[in-house]
Amino acid sequence: VKEQGKNHFQFYTPEMNDRVMKEMQLEIGLRKALEQQEFELVYQPQIDVRTGTLTGAEALIRWHHPEWGTISPAEFIPIAEETGLILPIGEWVLREACLQNKKWQREGHPPIRISVNISSRQFQQNELVAMVQNILNTTELEPRYLELELTESIIQDSTHAVEKMQQLKNMGIHLSIDDFGTGYSSLSYLKTFPINTLKIDRSFTSNIYNDPKDASLVETIITMAHNLDLKVIAEGVETQEQLSFLQQRQCNEAQGYYFSQPIASADMDKLLKNHKTV
Ligand code: C2E
Ligand code: CA
Ligand code: CA
Ligand code: CA
Repeated sequence: VKEQGKNHFQFYTPEMNDRVMKEMQLEIGLRKALEQQEFELVYQPQIDVRTGTLTGAEALIRWHHPEWGTISPAEFIPIAEETGLILPIGEWVLREACLQNKKWQREGHPPIRISVNISSRQFQQNELVAMVQNILNTTELEPRYLELELTESIIQDSTHAVEKMQQLKNMGIHLSIDDFGTGYSSLSYLKTFPINTLKIDRSFTSNIYNDPKDASLVETIITMAHNLDLKVIAEGVETQEQLSFLQQRQCNEAQGYYFSQPIASADMDKLLKNHKTV
């Protein structure tokens, strides 16, 4: 609260007004975006660092607004969360990703795994497991070709998280912990959570070559994960040096600009076409 002369308090600064206005505009826009078909999924390849094989892709949402241009998910996902719009949007993402992956398989490409980000509210909804099951049934994608990415905080904030994860796991879906290492949760959850993969956050990967502390953190995460029978993916790999480091430490997979930015489905088609089978 800013004091402005006698008996007058201004609760919002002009900058706050701008921000509130902008969020309201975004919310109005978001409400129309699904039916106007303004969303697109782009795909970022995930590579086996030992063989160089394409093993999977992370689906990332893009919002192309007719006037405002492309809006980053970092900007609109939080608003979608607050308003609950993340539920229909998240369902669309999941269906689209599964449809696309099945389409690639039908075209005869070697099958890859598709990873989908799940937001907090989405994970908390009671219908999540049934919704995922329904999407797998209707798209006919085999569950082992779907991976759901959850963050530590999403899991921590949810009631019955472990049961939910177990149900998804029992369906044959893969689960990964996204942004691993950035949460504050205790590591003991790793033995109770039915997960397959840890995704090392970009903030660690970026510094493995110039910060010895980040290097030993990454090294330790990889060793620990392997001891727990978990697979490790490093995200945000941008350089050859980072890749060599990860290869030497037996990190399983990598994802980042060094290999590819997130690309449109048509470009993934080409990549899959040119890709050698294992
Ligand atoms: P995230 O899940 O951690 O996704 C990785 C982000 O890092 C993506 O940003 C990706 O484009 C970017 N990235 C990948 N490789 C590199 C690299 O080598 N260097 C750098 N500097 N960046 C890299 P994006 O697509 O803007 O997504 C941002 C965040 O928005 C995601 O972070 C995720 O939390 C959220 N998000 C994106 N799509 C969805 C979605 O469909 N559903 C939900 N719930 N969240 C989504
Ligand atoms: Ca992710
Ligand atoms: Ca991540
Ligand atoms: Ca991240």
